[in-house]
Parts: sequence; structure tokens; C-alpha cells
Amino acid sequence: MQVLVIGAGVVGLAVARTAARAGHDVTVAEMTGGIANGVSSRNSEVIHAGLYYPTDTLRARHCVRGRRTLYDFCVSHGVPHRKCGKLVVATNPAELAKVETILAQAQANGVESVEMIGGNAARAMESELFCIGGLWSPETGIIDSHSYMRALWGELEDRGGMIAFQTPVERMSFRTPHWHVQFGGREPGAFDFDAVVNSAGLGAQALARRIEGYPAEQVPRLVLGKGNYFGYAGRPAFSRLIYPTPIDGGLGVHVTLDMAGRMRFGPDVEWVSEENYAVDPRRADSFYVRIRTYWPALPDGSLVPDYSGIRPKLRGPGEGQADFMIAGPAEHHMPRLVNLFGIESPGLTSSLSLAEEVVAKLA
Ligand SMILES: Cc1cc2nc3c(=O)[nH]c(=O)nc-3n(C[C@H](O)[C@H](O)[C@H](O)COP(=O)(O)OP(=O)(O)OC[C@H]3O[C@@H](n4cnc5c(N)ncnc54)[C@H](O)[C@@H]3O)c2cc1C
Repeated sequence: MQVLVIGAGVVGLAVARTAARAGHDVTVAEMTGGIANGVSSRNSEVIHAGLYYPTDTLRARHCVRGRRTLYDFCVSHGVPHRKCGKLVVATNPAELAKVETILAQAQANGVESVEMIGGNAARAMESELFCIGGLWSPETGIIDSHSYMRALWGELEDRGGMIAFQTPVERMSFRTPHWHVQFGGREPGAFDFDAVVNSAGLGAQALARRIEGYPAEQVPRLVLGKGNYFGYAGRPAFSRLIYPTPIDGGLGVHVTLDMAGRMRFGPDVEWVSEENYAVDPRRADSFYVRIRTYWPALPDGSLVPDYSGIRPKLRGPGEGQADFMIAGPAEHHMPRLVNLFGIESPGLTSSLSLAEEVVAKLA
């Protein structure tokens, strides 16, 4: 089939590469001038183990399966990564009870080697840490996500696929037997494809509304959950990822490490009404308070505003966690079309597994 994938973020690239491996003729349309200019360039670059998500959700299934496949991909394609492990820490008895429920959830999800450890054992691993106990997840890691996306792009091209940059998809309609797709940008025009995948991230809902005849009630609401990061101006105090217990809308302000060994903190959750990536330095006050619950020695004046990302959420404050939404022909009754909505965390970790499900739904 001639397959069009809309969006060159990590999910679109993984879908495109998987479709090309399955023998399809693949084109990716990306409205900006490069890969990874959306949500995929503004995240924590953590390979999640799959601890938190309710069993039998798409997030649980794709995170666990995607994580295993992603580590294999990193090894076979030379993508820099480090399985550094993660501690989810409790600083009081109420949090300890929460962490124990996370352990039970992780085990139900089939996550390997997770265990509870005491405060002393945690401090033996990370001497600057304060906690009364925690969950140790050795399968969690970090990845150079840009190298990963470049590797996906390379494999797509090796199999004859291509990315058209500065090529926004404006609208499309199904005219038997093809999808008729109109592009804007530098060289506007229209082409026919056999199958289409909408992996436009924050633009997925707007695009779905421009598909002629697409059931409007099946386009979910888009809620923007901004996450701000602060960098740490000093030598990293930790060598593993340190997470507090989760908060509404996110995993809590945690210690993230990148492949260059830098340490930063975030993301928090700020509900916003439009895309805006500025980090307000005043948010540092709440970061100091939260981080010092598990790292009391955090020096004054050491946090500097870094970057932010926006989660394409389907639910707002206090409404609980939504699942990924993969809307294929069984849901909307239009042939060979898949819309992806709400692909927030753990979308990077899940990308290769999501790609397999999406390509299977195009058949
Ligand atoms: C703060 C934060 C932290 C996160 N941390 C992690 C983490 O540690 N681990 C993890 O696994 N996941 C994490 N995630 C989730 C992960 O980053 C996302 O799930 C993933 O990047 C989504 O990729 P995508 O390809 O769906 O979207 P995007 O990367 O946004 O790609 C969509 C692309 O579509 C393009 N586009 C939009 N509309 C059109 C159009 N009409 N025509 C053509 N192109 C279009 C955009 O320009 C963009 O390039 C985090 C997310 C956030 C926000």
C-alpha cells in the first residue's frame, strides 16, 4: 500500500519505519522543517518500565512491550542509552502505602525485578537521598531520543520511504478506493494514498476535524498539560532516576539525567490554554519545596529555568488518567485510517509497540 504518515515525531517515525518494514511504500508529511520538532523534543527521555498504568490499558501494554523492544532496538542500532534504574521514594508513611500500591500495579503489569527496599538500602545506593523506603525498578533507563529518531528515519529511508518536510496536511477525504489528501506549505498540492495514519501529536484533533465525514463525536477533547523543567547548576547528586510519588496529571517533580550526565528536575504540571514554552522562573519556589522532601541538601540558588513540554492530554485536572486512544476502522468505520490521540507519556517508550498495532490496523 501507499501509506501516508502525518507527523515526524517519535510515534510517526516508528509507525513509518514499521510500515516500511512490512513492505509498504511510505511517505511521512511533516509541517515543520525537521524531525522531532513537537512533543518528542521536549520530554524526560526516560525509558519507562511500566509501573503505574492500570493493567489491560494500552499504556500498560505498550509501555512494557515497547520498553523491551526499544532496548533491543538501541542495542542493534547503536542508540546511546543507559539502564540506570529508578527509585520511587516515600518520605512518610502515607507515601509508603502509595508506593506499595505502585509495586502491586507494576507486578500485575509484568514488570521484571521490581522490589521494595528500606530507607537504609536506598541511601546505600544514593547517599544524598532522604526516604523511609521505596520501590527499586532496575529496568527503567534513559535514552538519547534524538539518536533513536534519527535511526528510525535512517531505516525508513533504507527501505525506500521518505519524509516531506514543510508539508502540512490540510484536509482529506475518502474517494473510493483512495484517500485524497491536500497539502499546504511551500509546494501545495493533492495526492492519493491507500492508507493514512494521523500521528500529529498536539495537532491530531485539529486534523481529524478536517477529515471529511469523520464522526465529530469521536474526536476527543485536547487538554494541554504543560511540564516545566529546571536545570541543576552543579555536579549531579544522583546516578539513578529519583521519583517522588505521583501527583494529579503527572509523575511528580523527579530527578532526570541525560546521556551527557546532566541532572535536571521536572516536569511539574501546569494546565494551560495555549501552546507556550516559556518557563516562569517563579515556579522554582515550588520546585525547591518539593525536591527538598527527598533531597534536603539541595542548595539555594542552584535551580535554573530549563525547557518545557506540553502533554497532549485527553482529561483535565482532577479527572484521572486517560488511556492512549488508537482510533482505527473498527471504531470510526472509515477504511485504512488510524488516528492517534492523547499520546502523552509513556509515548516515547511505547513507540515501537504502538507502531505494530497501528500498522496491523491498516490491513
Ligand atoms: C513533559 C513531557 C515529558 C515526557 N516524558 C516522557 C518520558 O520520559 N518517557 C516517555 O516514554 N514519554 C515521555 N513523554 C511522552 C512523549 O514525549 C510523547 O508521547 C511522544 O513524544 C509523542 O510523539 P508523537 O510523535 O505522537 O508527537 P510529536 O512529537 O508532537 O509529533 C507530531 C508531529 O506532527 C506534526 N504535525 C502536526 N500537525 C500536522 C499536520 N497537519 N501536517 C503535518 N504535520 C503535522 C508536528 O509538527 C510534529 O512534528 C513526555 C511528554 C511530555 C510532554
